[in-house]
Amino acid sequence: MYYSDQTIVYFNGNFLKAKDAGMNLYGQSLHYGYSVFEGIKSYGTTHGTRIFKAEKHYERLKRSAELMHIPFDYSVSKLTDLTYQLLEQNGFTDAYIRPLITCSPNMSLSKGKESYLSLLAWEWNNGYLTDKVKVMTSNFQRPNPKAFRIEAKAGGHYVNSILACQDARDKGYDEALLLDENGNVAESSGANVFYEKEGILYTPALGNILPGITRQTVFEICSELNIPVQETFFKPEEMRGADAAFFCGTAAEIVALDSLDDVPFTKSWAGTASEKVQQAYQKLVRVLSL
Ligand code: PMP
Repeated sequence: MYYSDQTIVYFNGNFLKAKDAGMNLYGQSLHYGYSVFEGIKSYGTTHGTRIFKAEKHYERLKRSAELMHIPFDYSVSKLTDLTYQLLEQNGFTDAYIRPLITCSPNMSLSKGKESYLSLLAWEWNNGYLTDKVKVMTSNFQRPNPKAFRIEAKAGGHYVNSILACQDARDKGYDEALLLDENGNVAESSGANVFYEKEGILYTPALGNILPGITRQTVFEICSELNIPVQETFFKPEEMRGADAAFFCGTAAEIVALDSLDDVPFTKSWAGTASEKVQQAYQKLVRVLSL
C-alpha cells in the first residue's frame, strides 16, 4: 500500500528506491520513539499539483526538532523544494507526504547528535475516515504537557494515539476522543475536534493538544464566512448531543462525527455551519483561495 519496487524516497541527501532504503538498528528513534515528523498533503489544483500549507508544516517540523533537541538545519524552502521533486519523481498529484527526522546511532538518554531526513510519499485520494464517525470518550488521556513537549509532533507521542485508537476500535467505535489531565476534551488520536451549538463552533483551547494546521485553517474559514468560533476548555458532557461536530486534520480533512458515546449529534449535517466549513475547506485545498 505505501510503496512499490519503483517508489522513490528521499533519505539523508539522496533520492533512492524505497526498497533500498534501510534504517540503522542502533538509534534512539527506533528504541525510544525519539523522532519528529509531519503529515502533509498535496492536491491537484487549478494551479497544478500543490502542497497544502507546506510552509506551516515545515515550520512545525523544524520547531518540533528544536523542542526535542534534535539538530536539524534544512530550511523551509529547501524542504518544500525537495518535496516537490519527490512528487515529480514519483508522478504523484494527490498524495500524503511523510517527512521524518530520525537520529544517528546512540543508545544513551541524551540529546540527538546528528539527524537524518527521510521524505516519503504515497498516493492518497480519500480522507482516512470517510463516513460519519462514531466516537467514544477514551480512558486514555492525552500525554500530560508537563511530561512531554505536547506541541511537538514527536514519534513517541503516537504510542498514546495507537493505544487509544485501537481500544476504541476494539469496542466497536471508529475513533477515540481523548481528554486532557483535567478531564477536558483534548483531541482524537490524530486530529483536532470542534462541536457546534446554535451556529457557534467550539474547540479546545491550546495547551494540551497539537496546534493543528487544519484547526488554524478552520479559524480562517470561519472568519471569512462570519461563523463565530470559541477556543475554550469543556467536558465531554457539553459536547455530547450538540448540534454537530467534526474532526479536522491534514489526513482527516473535515470529517463529520455521527455520535459521541452513542449519543448522536442532533442536526442533520446538511445546512450546519460545520458543513459550510467542510465545503470551504475542500474548495480551499483544490483552488487555494476562498
Ligand atoms: N492532533 C493530533 C494528535 C494529530 O496527530 C494531528 C495530525 N497531525 C492533528 C491534531 C491535526 O494537525 P494538522 O491539522 O496540522 O494535520
